[in-house]
Amino acid sequence: MDFPKETEVAIIGAGLMGCSVGYRLAKAGMEVIILEMRNIASGASGRNGGMVTQLDGRDCNQEAILNRLTYARENNKMLPSLAEELKYDFEYERAGGMDVATTDEEWEYFERKLVPFQKNVGDDEVMLLDKKETKEVCPLLSNIAKGVRFRPSDGTLNPFQLNLGFAAAAERKGAKIFTYTPVKKIVIKNGKTTGVQTKRGYLKAKLIINAANAWAPLLTPEIDILPLRQVAVVTERVAKLPVYSMEAVLDNQVIFGSTQQKSGNLVVGGLGTEARKRNDHYQEDLSPDEICGSTAIFNIIFKGLGDVSIIRSWAGTMAFTADGLPCVGPVPEIENLFIVAGFSNGMAFAPIIGKLVAEDIISKKPSLSLKPFNPKRFYKQKINWPKSYNYTILADFLNRR
Ligand SMILES: Cc1cc2nc3c(=O)[nH]c(=O)nc-3n(C[C@H](O)[C@H](O)[C@H](O)COP(=O)(O)OP(=O)(O)OC[C@H]3O[C@@H](n4cnc5c(N)ncnc54)[C@H](O)[C@@H]3O)c2cc1C
Repeated sequence: MDFPKETEVAIIGAGLMGCSVGYRLAKAGMEVIILEMRNIASGASGRNGGMVTQLDGRDCNQEAILNRLTYARENNKMLPSLAEELKYDFEYERAGGMDVATTDEEWEYFERKLVPFQKNVGDDEVMLLDKKETKEVCPLLSNIAKGVRFRPSDGTLNPFQLNLGFAAAAERKGAKIFTYTPVKKIVIKNGKTTGVQTKRGYLKAKLIINAANAWAPLLTPEIDILPLRQVAVVTERVAKLPVYSMEAVLDNQVIFGSTQQKSGNLVVGGLGTEARKRNDHYQEDLSPDEICGSTAIFNIIFKGLGDVSIIRSWAGTMAFTADGLPCVGPVPEIENLFIVAGFSNGMAFAPIIGKLVAEDIISKKPSLSLKPFNPKRFYKQKINWPKSYNYTILADFLNRR
């Protein structure tokens, strides 16, 4: 395919967000080109646990809870029929999601403070399961589980498949995806974008959408988004578990999420990684210590599993913002530049964000306002992030546990 000289919309990044937005815009008749520096789903979207978590368990900020739930609930409404629309099975299952209390103090905190608070601010679905009820829904959890905070409508999906599904649907609607085509620079003249400079040449574009998530600030440094490297391991197939999307805090240090894919493989992610400096979070290497650490934690949580082999492991980079919500909307003071980035959770957002961004671009009237995600809130703000960090340090910094 010859590299084009001009397009209506150029999207940077063929992850879940870039492909979801690209699909909706192409479906609406716009000329869309998606530029990807590696392959489709090679970023966080192809390296995550596939947990559809509507609300991070430990959120205790009223505004953040309501903002997240509003979009995640709409997203949940879209998911059941999306496979048919995309003509792509992405193995979505709505079996519920657990947040496990691993100490008595934590369970007491869940019972007395966290869950009553979340219910009080409008989360009418969240519930508590005590130790006995927890064993009933997930018999393989070890005795370390003192009880769980449970959400029946959370679930799991295969993120790689969802990403590929959006990409294929976008192409069917006329979008063109150029892989191994890194964007080197967004070209701005007199406060207006004119196009992007890529490895294959210059592409003139009326509108540019930066959907490079963790890499987005390298092209749009005005918006301070932080990269966060995470690691994950996947086991061989095991028997189907009744509920399997969970998160937990272990030894007051490790925060992790885990899912069982439809195939039976267990994915455990977000395990104890070493603190690193900002730029080192883009490195997707993996140390033997991290793999061993992940395996050890796995054994602590799942006593009933017996011997299970880890068959694959990897590292990936997601993104964080200072309030835990993504940045979605026009970049201030730069005409024709949109940003759709800063996602630490993608599964509860990708379908709805694609729909709302396309509505906003086409009619300026999205069916749900994108205001809580306005990039203006971080425009040219230097956040005093920890110099060296991992997920746990960041969660503490953001007061999220
Ligand atoms: C280990 C791990 C576990 C996770 N677990 C979960 C989970 O269970 N549930 C959940 O909801 N979320 C999870 N996440 C987060 C989730 O993966 C992300 O929120 C989501 O994938 C973000 O999608 P995206 O399209 O914005 O980003 P990405 O998938 O990272 O896409 C960005 C794309 O931009 C490309 N790119 C970057 N720079 C350029 C450039 N200059 N030119 C061209 N292309 C460029 C990248 O190659 C990449 O493909 C996890 C993340 C990780 C790393």
